[in-house]
Amino acid sequence: MNNTTLTTSALVELDKQHFTHPWTVFDVYQQQGALPIAEAKGCYITDSNGKRYLDAVGGLWCTNIGLGRTEMADAIAEQCRQMAFANPFVDMTNIPATQLAAKLAELAPGDLNHTIFTCGGSTAVDSSYRLIQYYQNCRGKHDKKHIISRNNSYHGSTYLSMSIGGKAGDHPVEFDFISDFIHHISCPNFYRAAAGMSEAEYLQQLLDELEQKILTIGPDKVAAFYAEPIFGAGGVIVPPAGYHQATWAICKKYDVLYVSDEVVTSFGRLGHWFASWDVFGIKPDIITTAKGITSGYQPLGACIYSDRIHQVISEPGHGRCFAHGFTYSGHPVACAAALKNIEIIEREQLLQRVLDIGPYFQQQMKTLQDLPIVGQVRGQQLMVCVENVRDKVSKSLFDEELDIGKRIADHAEDLGLIVRPIVHLNVMSPPLTITKDEVDFIVRTLRQAIERTINDLQ
Ligand code: PLP
Repeated sequence: MNNTTLTTSALVELDKQHFTHPWTVFDVYQQQGALPIAEAKGCYITDSNGKRYLDAVGGLWCTNIGLGRTEMADAIAEQCRQMAFANPFVDMTNIPATQLAAKLAELAPGDLNHTIFTCGGSTAVDSSYRLIQYYQNCRGKHDKKHIISRNNSYHGSTYLSMSIGGKAGDHPVEFDFISDFIHHISCPNFYRAAAGMSEAEYLQQLLDELEQKILTIGPDKVAAFYAEPIFGAGGVIVPPAGYHQATWAICKKYDVLYVSDEVVTSFGRLGHWFASWDVFGIKPDIITTAKGITSGYQPLGACIYSDRIHQVISEPGHGRCFAHGFTYSGHPVACAAALKNIEIIEREQLLQRVLDIGPYFQQQMKTLQDLPIVGQVRGQQLMVCVENVRDKVSKSLFDEELDIGKRIADHAEDLGLIVRPIVHLNVMSPPLTITKDEVDFIVRTLRQAIERTINDLQ
């Protein structure tokens, strides 16, 4: 079937019949259908009717260098022509995968010098846990397999990674989850801390909770702590200052591995290759990444882990087989795309660009806090979230059925701006190439969209 012969309405109908989208609310989808995107260039996407939008979501936190770059298309095409696939198992490799693994060792903090390649973020998180099990068994610590993560975190949508995640809305009763070895502690969201508590008191409460959780489960049973440096899908929650270093110290004290899930926060989103060390001053044992590693041009994820872990699992004389991996681990086309993506970030100095424009983006976004339903605008560099509330003093929320975030996003879409609704929130993570004028357009248009929504509610 040639898609150029399909009208938009035929495409939407066909899509309804056959494409089960991630996070589909079936009834709503049957009524509304999808917005077919036909073209993308830089920060802009164009639908099949020719309407252009500024995509402030950056695809899905991923189009870091912006889309439509000929140089990327050429690198991908060239790798396809030369060698589109090579078996990565056991003793065969390919040049882009080897080069990318070496490059990641150079860019990642501390002694994170080893990479398991995956097909995306969820499989990077799954792979990290398989690695942890293997590591603990190699050390003879067969009971040390429990995981601690946080409420409201997002770590992917495989059975395991979704169970590690802690977003209530992602845990509907129709799905089953692993609960026997995964434990959740509080989300470090000071905006929602008990009234009257200082940030220092709140931080101490969070740290006590982590330490107490380790002690309750038993340090001999807790294998790893999973944490996004800044919560992404949970609503761009930046933990209180000092949280990362203190939780890292607690993990070290009890021999608990620290897994930093940088699927969103790496490759420039916070102005650095990785946020763990350069932004928050911690050297995790494992970093999981995906998304910005290729800027969305190819699907790829990576689980980057330490020399210390590698020494244990590969100790000579054991003949151990790390029986884990995928057909597409280290896929040459995806790795070639990642290498070109990294080259572009370096050449165009996009990390510095984020450090320059990020504060302006945050500052301008915060001007929306004068609107009567905007409870808080929060974020860092090119991650931002608007939290909409019914009452700014009590911070009470609108009824979920009102779908306030979606109403605002729909108005924004009408006005040519894509923002992502997550229940009562609207989140954004534009490409690193965003300009001041584009930031001004985002803020102006989102203000209009919120004002229209307020009018609808009256
Ligand atoms: N981890 C984090 C922090 C994420 O934000 C995501 C996706 O949004 C994932 C993991 C899962 O990545 P993927 O959707 O590529 O499987």
